[in-house]
Amino acid sequence: MKGIISYGVYLPYYRLKRETIFKAMSWFNPGTGGLARGEKSVANYDEDSLTMAVAAGMDCFSDVRKEKIGSLYLASTTFPNKERGNASIAGAALNLSPNIRTADFSGCLKSGTTALISALKENGPEPSMVCASDSRLGKAGGAMEQLFGDGAAAMIVGNDGVIASLTGHHSVSYDFADQRRIDQDKFTRTWEERWIRQQGYFKMVPEAIQALLAKCGLKLDDISKVVFPPLSIRDHQAMAKTLGLEQGKVQAPLMDTVGNTGSSHPFLMLIGALEEAQPGDRIMVASYGSGSDVLLFEVTEEINKLKDRKKLEKNLGYKSELKNYTQYLSFKGMLPKEIGIRGEEISPTSLSLAWREQNAVLRLVGSKCESCGTPQFPKETVCVNPECGAVDRMEDYSFSDKPCRLFTYTADHLAFSEDPPALYGIVDFEKGGRYWFDITDCQMESLKVGQPVQMTFRKKYLDQARGITGYFWKAMPVKA
Ligand SMILES: [Zn+2]
Repeated sequence: MKGIISYGVYLPYYRLKRETIFKAMSWFNPGTGGLARGEKSVANYDEDSLTMAVAAGMDCFSDVRKEKIGSLYLASTTFPNKERGNASIAGAALNLSPNIRTADFSGCLKSGTTALISALKENGPEPSMVCASDSRLGKAGGAMEQLFGDGAAAMIVGNDGVIASLTGHHSVSYDFADQRRIDQDKFTRTWEERWIRQQGYFKMVPEAIQALLAKCGLKLDDISKVVFPPLSIRDHQAMAKTLGLEQGKVQAPLMDTVGNTGSSHPFLMLIGALEEAQPGDRIMVASYGSGSDVLLFEVTEEINKLKDRKKLEKNLGYKSELKNYTQYLSFKGMLPKEIGIRGEEISPTSLSLAWREQNAVLRLVGSKCESCGTPQFPKETVCVNPECGAVDRMEDYSFSDKPCRLFTYTADHLAFSEDPPALYGIVDFEKGGRYWFDITDCQMESLKVGQPVQMTFRKKYLDQARGITGYFWKAMPVKA
């Protein structure tokens, strides 16, 4: 039976305490005080839902070789590109073969589970990767600003090495416009909370769950853990009561630590359940948004063979508090700043050059000498090893997934950065190769020469005149 064979998680480095938001905006809306508990995850200025999806996808490769992947599906309601394949960019950044099928799933918060069902229904022998990621915005001072978090998660599904096999699935689809955006909307709009609860959330999720149970000939008592996304902590608890679930069967909603991450939230919670699951457990996962998808999995013995099971736990632990509300606004593009002449300078993107160099830029592929085995980046025709010097003997060599260390680094207080000072350094790859990269997701004081770092796919610049986001790789400390 087909099922999940690997999973991956990506939570951004920054957390914002909800109390920080409330302190800044309570003068305007004291009514959100009840939501001001815990913290939410916040994407860094150089991240978007695409880069987070790539990071979650890379996290899956601890257990499945990327060469095997036959299709890549990306799900998000906050894709950076409307007409440019987001999954095609992610496929390149993940260094997957171009001979794969890619698709973007979007439009509603159940797009992640819909993509997962689509992948599980495929007949081909190759595994499929499904990445869900979101970075939604609520207006300053509103409840959604408090509730939304940023994050991504990914699953690889296939026939071999199944850790959780699919028992069944059911979907309901309704045009219920409780949360919505039209083309020019930057912020999610909503409607009256009680109406959303009574006509949407508390009707559609139970309807889909009960229909699936009936299909499978099971009762809720037969299920070990039920995963459903929260509207708020209070509504999540009320849903458990409505369904008649005892506390031990309800998967923690991650609202105090992450916030609601939209299309990726059911994935994150499912991974939380898988981290604790025993072989034989039945896990049911539901999404909510324009209806509901529900999937039922049974955990297998294979789960104990995963190299790293605690991926959500690791991501929850690697964090830093964003102490300043205006810095949050700035990262989210909600605070126009005086960036000066240096900040305004962007040389025009040459699309023909970007296409020619995409192996190096998107895939971080350099070369390895076939004579002496020396890797180098960027790709050269002559081997850099002085004792070799072979010419035209280079094969492609990927650097993005290789362990590396910080050889040297510096902080630049003069160069423009969205999060000054600009940090960059020279990185030594453990199997050979050296190049300089920007450094992100850390404080300068915590950096050390020789420390292990990893490559992370990030936004490099936005060329507004041509509607192009430029991406490249940066270095960040390894998440312990
Ligand atoms: Zn050589």
